[in-house]
Amino acid sequence: LCRLRESGAVDDLQCEYHSIESVNQQLTPLLRQLAQSTYFRYYKVNLHKQCPFWSAEGQCFLEDCMVEPADENELPEELQNHAAHPDMDEIDFSPFGPGYQPFSKCDYADTDFCVMEDEFTASGEYVDLIKNPERFTGYAGESAHNIWRAIYEENCFDFPARLHSTLENQQEKDAAKPDSMAAQLRQIYQVDECKEKRIFYRLVSGLHASISTHLCYNFYNRTTQSWEPNLDCFMSRVGNFPSRLQNIYFDYALLLRAVFKLSPYLHTIDYCSGNPEEKGWVQDKMNELLSVCLALPETFDEGEMFDGPDAAMLKEEFKDHFRNVTRIMDCVGCQKCRLWGKVQTRGFATALKVLFSFEGPSLGSIKLERGEIVTLFNAVNQLSKSIEAIQFFHQQYHDTQHTT
Ligand code: FAD
Repeated sequence: LCRLRESGAVDDLQCEYHSIESVNQQLTPLLRQLAQSTYFRYYKVNLHKQCPFWSAEGQCFLEDCMVEPADENELPEELQNHAAHPDMDEIDFSPFGPGYQPFSKCDYADTDFCVMEDEFTASGEYVDLIKNPERFTGYAGESAHNIWRAIYEENCFDFPARLHSTLENQQEKDAAKPDSMAAQLRQIYQVDECKEKRIFYRLVSGLHASISTHLCYNFYNRTTQSWEPNLDCFMSRVGNFPSRLQNIYFDYALLLRAVFKLSPYLHTIDYCSGNPEEKGWVQDKMNELLSVCLALPETFDEGEMFDGPDAAMLKEEFKDHFRNVTRIMDCVGCQKCRLWGKVQTRGFATALKVLFSFEGPSLGSIKLERGEIVTLFNAVNQLSKSIEAIQFFHQQYHDTQHTT
């Protein structure tokens, strides 16, 4: 099994694809079963927040865009109590309330890659993720494109500009010295600085490709009036773009690495579900899943990131930009897409927090909210489903080539 290198050449990827696929085959039944459990299927979320960046237009009112909140009576007692938690009542997240305010520094800790919200707010509702699957909704056009554009624009770090001006100042000062600091900075600028930017891009492009894969796999065929995979949809959005495919595998490897790193903590969690039998069952499945993860080859080396001379500054900037990606989700004009956008970006943010905010023994001090665990696992499950769907489409594509 080979390592998935973020700079991996396409040739290497043939091997990498297969190694990730074989790990996925082992994880698939465990992930699907865990996703069905009470602990992992209910997620508290506010789908009515105002877009903090622009006045959102282009709302989708199609039936498939809507999300059905979970009936309070379905929820285990522990979550019902959570729903009534009064701590953050003074923060008014209501979309139209007079107290509306954009996010402030208090909404996240320094270690967070996303804005913390929902779990302890009085607003927001529990949603059953199994009853509201990510699939084709018909949300498209200018509104959807604006969101994706805004997300990719978050990839424009100030850092290069800052570094560039440092470089120029230094060049002026050190003009007489051939082996000057300027040369070193130029090297950093060309090599190390690009790595984090590239990773940021791959994360969002992989998420985008994964969402496209789901909507093409669970596509509504108006002629047959049924949900079925649509090969043309997949090829035109993902299949014809090797880098997009590669980015899905990259994201999966990164998230699994975070789960692996989190193993000691995941063994200790109380997977509350209101039912002791189910709790024990979830714990067993989780232990099984973690033992597969422990046997994983090293898929992603987080130690290679943020290791340059300006690592701290770059990491802060990376965090700020990823937090913005999570905020942009409140601008998505389709509730179902917003739900899954929020779940997955928070899951990615949790993985980034685990990988980059806690190093070595400091992991012992990590404390995650239930929402972070739920979103991390659902994000892993969604990527796992994408990889399964890619294999399905790959076979279908192969079959159509042979019959034509
Ligand atoms: P889009 O997917 O909108 O892409 C816009 C442009 O981005 C493309 O033209 C291409 O240049 C570029 N691009 C596309 N894919 C990639 C990639 N992987 N990497 C880099 N660049 C890329 N629709 C649903 O039906 N169901 C959903 O659950 C759903 N969830 C969504 C969640 C979010 C957060 C957003 C923003 C949108 C969601 N949508 C969903 C809408 C969906 O993603 C598309 O925007 C929509 O189907 C229109 O697709 P499109 O072919 O015009 O291109």
